[in-house]
Amino acid sequence: MTDPARRLSPVYRDMPLTIFEHMSGLARQSGAINLGQGFPDEAPPPALLAALARASAEKSHQYPPMAGLAELRRAVAAFYARTQGLDLSPDSVIVTSGATEAVASAILGVVAPGDEVILFAPAYDAYAPLVRRAGGVPVFVPLAAPHWRYDRVGIAAAITPRTRAVIVNDPLNPTGTVASATDLSMLAELCLAHDLIAICDEVWENVRFDGLRHASLLAQPGMADRTIKIGSAGKIFGATGWKVGWMIAAPAMAAVLGRAHQFLTFTTPPMLQWAVAEGLATPGLAQACTARWAQTRGVLLEGLAREGFALLDSAATWFTCIDLPASGITLDDRSFCESAVHEAGVASIPLSALWEGEGAPTTIVRLCHCKPEAMLADAVVRLARWRDDR
Ligand code: GLN
Repeated sequence: MTDPARRLSPVYRDMPLTIFEHMSGLARQSGAINLGQGFPDEAPPPALLAALARASAEKSHQYPPMAGLAELRRAVAAFYARTQGLDLSPDSVIVTSGATEAVASAILGVVAPGDEVILFAPAYDAYAPLVRRAGGVPVFVPLAAPHWRYDRVGIAAAITPRTRAVIVNDPLNPTGTVASATDLSMLAELCLAHDLIAICDEVWENVRFDGLRHASLLAQPGMADRTIKIGSAGKIFGATGWKVGWMIAAPAMAAVLGRAHQFLTFTTPPMLQWAVAEGLATPGLAQACTARWAQTRGVLLEGLAREGFALLDSAATWFTCIDLPASGITLDDRSFCESAVHEAGVASIPLSALWEGEGAPTTIVRLCHCKPEAMLADAVVRLARWRDDR
């Protein structure tokens, strides 16, 4: 008899743990400061927690509607009307258990066996495995450091008659960069010319530090009925464990995507949905979270710069990237992360772990900045001392 575990799908048997779990595990074991996986240490806003307590005491604990509470679907549409000037019907919103589930539902709902899907490198680690699981073929187009611009020629060359969709993560994790207006109109033009669906992971839309309003690919001319826009309450309010997200598409398309969602998680805890609905409708609550992260971001960026670390430009997300050679470090990114967690006591994420295909940069690491000021200051000192003593 073979080991029954060997009877499991080779897809998962041979798959490594996500880099985020791996680095968080090392940080827990070694007691390191965890600037790897992206999550704030501080609690979400008290008003959101009060809304959750109230919902938990007063509302139903049974299955909510599969597509989400009507109140949350309305609140999401109203939030985007207010913050991005979008005119969305609540019927276009499907609530999911986190944005990762929205990404999975969108991919399962769009991709048929044999379809090609354009992805950009670096890419969030869930996209390519999900495309493959749907029977699709990920086709990577690299973005060029240090500004991570979208290359029209490269994208056009990657499109074939089998290309079904493109997955765009804007603002971009891990780099914290934002697509330009030119990038967006070029991507829209290619989607229209080649009849592609755009799956847009925009979970960082509200975590921007450049003072600009987020512009979705969905708002480009002609894109409203071929774009799936994905958002996350966990990112908006700093409550990553809540796993409340959503996908938005023209109602006819949303109805189809709901069929994929109904056999993944089916629904999302109703008390969390009530609280998020209230949070989105509370003026200033989302902005206050971003304002708080702007403060802690400043502490990490200024601290690192003062100690001679070279930072790549970024405008959004909870992350900043360091250029290792320009910071006086000769290790490659993976060796840096594996050594720094044990020796400096700081966990980070190697950019190359989020890169498939040729040409991965191996000299960039990502640090998370939504942490208490004292912890960030300590991390900077540890990293600088470790670098200088090596
Ligand atoms: N989005 C988080 C990050 O980029 C990770 C989420 C996860 O661990 N799967 O750090």
